[in-house]
Amino acid sequence: MADSSSLSKPIRSVCVYCGSSNTTRPEYLDLATRFGEALAKNGMRLVYGGGAVGLMGRCAKAVHENGGEVLGVMPRFLERREITYQDVPHRMVDTMHERKHIMFEESDAFVVLPGGVGTLEEAVETLSWARLNLHAKPVIFLSEDDFWAPFFTLIQHTVDANLTPADFMRVVRYARTVDECFAMLAAPVTA
Ligand code: AMP
Repeated sequence: MADSSSLSKPIRSVCVYCGSSNTTRPEYLDLATRFGEALAKNGMRLVYGGGAVGLMGRCAKAVHENGGEVLGVMPRFLERREITYQDVPHRMVDTMHERKHIMFEESDAFVVLPGGVGTLEEAVETLSWARLNLHAKPVIFLSEDDFWAPFFTLIQHTVDANLTPADFMRVVRYARTVDECFAMLAAPVTA
C-alpha cells in the first residue's frame, strides 16, 4: 500500500467520500452535482461507492452526464439500500473492507463532501493511513458552509494534546469552494 510515487503524479482519479442521504440540505446535494460536473470538466475520473442515492448519486450522475469517467464499488449487501448506479462501470464486492481497498487503490486523491458516519469512517481511515505513512495521497475536505469546521476543531484538539503531530495538519486540507478544491488537487501538499 505504501505509495510515495503519488507525490509527483498528476491527479487522474479522485475518490469521493460523501453522504448517502437523499433528505439532507439541498445545498449539499447541489454541491455534489457541481463537484461532479467539475471532475468531468477537468478530465478526472470519479471513484466512489457505486450508489445512486444522496450526494454520491448526484456526483456520479453529474460526472457521467458531462462525459466523465466513473468507477463505482458496491458491496452486494448494500445494493438494495444504496441502489447501484447501473449506467456507469462498477465492481461488486462482498465486504466494506474490499470496497474501501479498491477505492483507495484506484485513486490518486480523496475529496470528502458533507456526509454522516459512513463518510467520516472512510475519511478518518484514509487520514490514519497517511499518518502511518502508508500513502501520501492528498485528502481534501470540501464544504461551502463550514460543515467540516467541527471536524477540524476536533483534529486540532488532538494536536493541542500532543496526540497528533502539528505538521500532520498540512496533510488535512480544507477547501471552501469547488474551485479552491481543484486548485489544491492541481498543487497537492502531501505527507
Ligand atoms: P453516510 O455518510 O453514513 O451516508 O455513508 C456514506 C457512504 O459510506 C455509504 O455509501 C456507506 O455505505 C459507506 N460506508 C459506511 N461505513 C462504511 C465502511 N465501514 N466502509 C466503507 N464504506 C462505508
